[in-house]
Amino acid sequence: MNNQITVTSPLLPDLAEFTALLQEIWNSKWITNNGSFHRQLEKELAAYLKVPYISLFTNGTLPLITALQALRITGEVITTPYSFVATTHSLWWNGIKPVFVDVDPSTCGIDPTKIEAAITPKTTAIMPVHCYGKPCDVKAIQEIADKYGLKVIYDAAHAFGVEVDGESILNAGDLSTLSFHATKVYNTIEGGAMVMHDEKTKQRIDYLKNFGFANEVTVVAPGINSKMDEMRAAYGLLNLRQVDAAIDARRKVASAYREALRGLEGVTFFDDMPGVRHNYSYFPVFIDAKRFGKTRDQLYFEMKAANVLGRRYFYPLISEFSTYRSLPSATRENLPNAHRLAETVLCLPMHHDLTDHDIARVLTFFKK
Ligand SMILES: *Cc1c(COP(=O)(O)O)cnc(C)c1O
Repeated sequence: MNNQITVTSPLLPDLAEFTALLQEIWNSKWITNNGSFHRQLEKELAAYLKVPYISLFTNGTLPLITALQALRITGEVITTPYSFVATTHSLWWNGIKPVFVDVDPSTCGIDPTKIEAAITPKTTAIMPVHCYGKPCDVKAIQEIADKYGLKVIYDAAHAFGVEVDGESILNAGDLSTLSFHATKVYNTIEGGAMVMHDEKTKQRIDYLKNFGFANEVTVVAPGINSKMDEMRAAYGLLNLRQVDAAIDARRKVASAYREALRGLEGVTFFDDMPGVRHNYSYFPVFIDAKRFGKTRDQLYFEMKAANVLGRRYFYPLISEFSTYRSLPSATRENLPNAHRLAETVLCLPMHHDLTDHDIARVLTFFKK
């Protein structure tokens, strides 16, 4: 049996270096609650990501939930069904009604031209997703938000390190959130962060992720506990030193896939966007069954049987899950592009550790 090729593989720090940092933590006996590794990682990440302020979290879902709390979002929020469920779950946990708007197939992000029609008197915010790390049309989204007085919270879980014309995409909107889960480009095992524009907001978020404590005796809001501990902050510091090399390795995999697949009947994929620093977090291909000669699912299961694991991100759509499917905006007629993408997409194995041999094995499934 051939070795398994997984869709992703975690970027792991050198174990000896990590052990040395663990020894420091053991010596200090300071294992969580804004310790020195936590503070250092916030500082280094803000510099690396080119953002003014960042607050670390214990995963990528709680900053979404906390962002909605911080901005006191209520009523209805416009979002897209072509994402990981956590995007919409964060609305549900705040008692907010998700309103699904279709995606633009050229970015897989929310189609700004369809947002206005979904706005009602109850709409308070827009929650777009930089799907696959491809930047949304943040300018068009901000214009609508300004016109209607809406907040914008970006689920930027896929967009670590993504820049447009040298500026971080994480600076768009009111708040952006990141995930540092094991499967992402940059990981702290479990982890996440929120990016904000000013010190006051950073302070408020830091209170909210620590039960709302402003000091020993003052609780300013019903906060949550979502603090990152010192072990994972130390792990994150080591991974930050090698993330550029990992993104570079991913870029080479993307180039190899593109070179082999370009012009292949029935298979489409994305090229780099002009002026964008991509992170190559995913490599989605879209299968036109008639022209390719087999369906996406035939291809997916054929690969799986040979131990080559792609993933159908994002299938099913969030709007198809039982929690959401009865929402008025969850209909197929409202979301034609999202449905077509979900039915044709396959994310090919993409990570820093893929060898030329692995890439060749993935590509054998596309030989005619
Ligand atoms: C991974 C992911 C999340 C959630 O992050 P966790 O760290 O797993 O909680 C949220 N949104 C999107 C789009 C994601 O891909």
